[in-house]
Amino acid sequence: MDRIECVVIGAGVVGLAVARRLALFGLEVVVVEAASSIGTGISSRNSEVIHGGMYYPTDSLRARLCVAGREALYEYCASRGIPHRQLGKLIVATEPAHEAKLTAIEQQGQVNGVGELIRLTTDQVQALEPQLKCLAALHAPTTGILDSHAYMLALRGDAEDHGAQLAFNSPALGGHVGDRGFVVAVGGTDPVMIECRALVNAAGLAAQAVAAKFDGLPAPSIPRQVLAKGSYFALTGMAPPFRRLIYPIPPEGGLGIHVTLDLGGQARFGPDVEWTDQINYRVDSERSHAFYQAIRQYWPYLPDGALSPAYAGVRPKLSGPGEPAADFQIQGPAEHGIAGLVNLYGIESPGLTASLAIADHVAEILGV
Ligand SMILES: Cc1cc2nc3c(=O)[nH]c(=O)nc-3n(C[C@H](O)[C@H](O)[C@H](O)COP(=O)(O)OP(=O)(O)OC[C@H]3O[C@@H](n4cnc5c(N)ncnc54)[C@H](O)[C@@H]3O)c2cc1C
Repeated sequence: MDRIECVVIGAGVVGLAVARRLALFGLEVVVVEAASSIGTGISSRNSEVIHGGMYYPTDSLRARLCVAGREALYEYCASRGIPHRQLGKLIVATEPAHEAKLTAIEQQGQVNGVGELIRLTTDQVQALEPQLKCLAALHAPTTGILDSHAYMLALRGDAEDHGAQLAFNSPALGGHVGDRGFVVAVGGTDPVMIECRALVNAAGLAAQAVAAKFDGLPAPSIPRQVLAKGSYFALTGMAPPFRRLIYPIPPEGGLGIHVTLDLGGQARFGPDVEWTDQINYRVDSERSHAFYQAIRQYWPYLPDGALSPAYAGVRPKLSGPGEPAADFQIQGPAEHGIAGLVNLYGIESPGLTASLAIADHVAEILGV
C-alpha cells in the first residue's frame, strides 16, 4: 500500500489547479488520471472564454468563483506568459423583448461585482462592430479568451515543481473511507492501492460515478447528473466578421450560440444545447440549420455554406430542461460528513475561468 498526503482524481483544469494549490502549500500530492495526458475531457472541449460572471445568481458559487477566478486567471496568464487576450464581449438584444433581459443581466452583473458593463445603442454598436445587427447591447470589457492548453501545462508545471506527481492511464476504480483517511484503488497497467489523508474528486463527467464507488460515502449526497452536449461550427472561407465575442440573450441550458474567436484569429460558433443521456463528441452537420438561423439573428450577412462542423463538448449539469440552472456543488464535510474529502460536481461553465478560485475554495474546505 502506498501512502501519500493527498490524492486528486482527474487531471482536467480543475484537478490540475487543485493539485497546484495543494502542492504550493506543501502537501504531497498524487494526481491519478484515467487518460494518457492532461486535459483530454471537458477542459479541451469548451469555448476557452474567460467569463465576466454576470449571468449567475447572487452569491452562488458560480458567481463568486467566476469573478475571483477571472481576476486570478488574468494575473496568472500575464505572469506565466500564457497566451490570452481581453477582447471584451457584446451581449445583444435582437428583439424588443430582449431589452428587459439585457437590463436584468446588467443588474445581476453589478450585484456580482463583474466590473464595468456598458449599455450601447444600435449606433454605438455599429461603430464598434459594423456587421452586427441588434437593437441594443451590453459591452463587458472584462471578458477574454485564453489558450487553455498552455494554461493547463503551466498548472501542471507548477504542481510538479512543488513535488506533485501525475500518474496517467491510472483510473481511480473506487475505494473506501477508513480510519486513517481513504484507500483509493487505482487501476491501469500497474494497479495500486493508495492510502491518503485528503481526497479530491475532480473527475468531471465521471465525478458522480467515481463517488458512487467509495464505500462509506453517503449515497444521498451524490447529486443526479444531467448531460447537455454543445456542438460548435467553424466559420470557413472568410475572416472573422467581429473583433469582440458576440453573445445572444442566453436560452435555457447555455449561453446561446455565440461567436468566439481563438488566439489564431479564427471564428467559431456555439455551443448549442442538446440534452442527452450519453457522451459522444460527433458533430451532426444537420444541426447547422439551427446555427444559421440563430446566428443570422445578429449577423444577417452569414453566407450559405460558411459553417463547417468543428467539435463538441458535454456539460456535466446538475439540472435538466425546465429546471432552474443549478450551482456548482463542491462538497466537503459540511455536506457529506467526511473530513478530508472534497467532491466536485456539476463543474460546467465557468469552470475554466473559475479554476484558480475553485482550487482556493477546495483548499479552504481542506483547511490548508
Ligand atoms: C461546451 C462547453 C463550453 C464551455 N465553455 C467554457 C468557457 O468558455 N469558459 C469557461 O470558463 N468554462 C467553460 N466550460 C466549462 C469548463 O470547460 C469546465 O468547467 C472545466 O473544463 C471542467 O474541468 P474539470 O477538470 O472539472 O473536468 P475535465 O476536464 O473533464 O477533467 C476531469 C478528468 O478526470 C478524468 N477522469 C474521469 N474519471 C476518472 C477516474 N475514474 N480516474 C481518474 N481520472 C478520471 C478525465 O479523464 C478527465 O481528464 C465549458 C464547458 C463545455 C462543456
